Amino acid sequence: MKVLEGKVAVVTGANSGIGLAIARAYRAEGARVFVAGRRQAQLDEVEAELSPDVTGIRCDVGRLEDLDALYATVAEQAGRIDVLVANAGIAIAAPLGEITEEQFDAMFTTNVKGPLFTVQKALPLLSPGASIILTGSTAASRPQPNLPAYGATKAAIRNLVRGFAHDAGTRRYRINVLSPGGTRTQGLQELLSTEELAAAGSSVPLGRLAEAAEIAAAAVFLASDASSYVNGSELAVDGGFAQI
Ligand code: NDP
Repeated sequence: MKVLEGKVAVVTGANSGIGLAIARAYRAEGARVFVAGRRQAQLDEVEAELSPDVTGIRCDVGRLEDLDALYATVAEQAGRIDVLVANAGIAIAAPLGEITEEQFDAMFTTNVKGPLFTVQKALPLLSPGASIILTGSTAASRPQPNLPAYGATKAAIRNLVRGFAHDAGTRRYRINVLSPGGTRTQGLQELLSTEELAAAGSSVPLGRLAEAAEIAAAAVFLASDASSYVNGSELAVDGGFAQI
């Protein structure tokens, strides 16, 4: 029995990296998946790879009209959401003494405003018992020298989840944070030099970076009924990086 058979899932930031790995894992477990991202060509590729039962929708999570359009399509094609993963996020390396207003706004718009309204606007479509997952980061608990503002956006995610978790009983959903450590994705490759990427794994107790599929496995757990009493939690999948 596939653990997400018959479920309808929406995953943002799903045309590469961790989001794509989650979309793949959800399809493998039998879910009908809506994938959201900004680049249409990438969405077309994901649709081709994961079809049938996958729909790519162009959506910038920082634009409320895009979220309205996303959920209008989901409502029309599926009528409900059982699993929502607000995963879209960007990281810009900039020390606080140098960060520009533009860089700050870009990160807070995508990483904080985006997930907040991704969840808020989904509420009318959530089925009873729906599972919501927000992608956090170990940067929230173990700040990185060149990523302090990014870490602040991910710390904000924790508080958003606590706020939404408070209403979980009346609204009949569950909501949790999934916090990856350094994970081999296009996003990380753009952030770190080749030398930094090679060295990054050595500071992790398990001695290596994560693969996106390892983060996706935890996203399957949080989406499935196996986590039916998990609400308002943060699940770190970081090889022990932020815990030691
Ligand atoms: P990638 O850059 O590989 O993927 C990010 C995805 O998000 C892309 O598909 C991108 O597609 C999409 N995206 C970016 N901005 C927006 C937006 N405004 N609206 C909709 N989609 C958007 O990054 P990762 O897979 O590495 O990161 C995914 C999440 O995991 C992020 O939230 C990140 O902060 C978090 N994370 C990553 C870690 C890592 O080491 N990789 C560690 C900890 C957390 P497009 O450009 O087409 O929109």
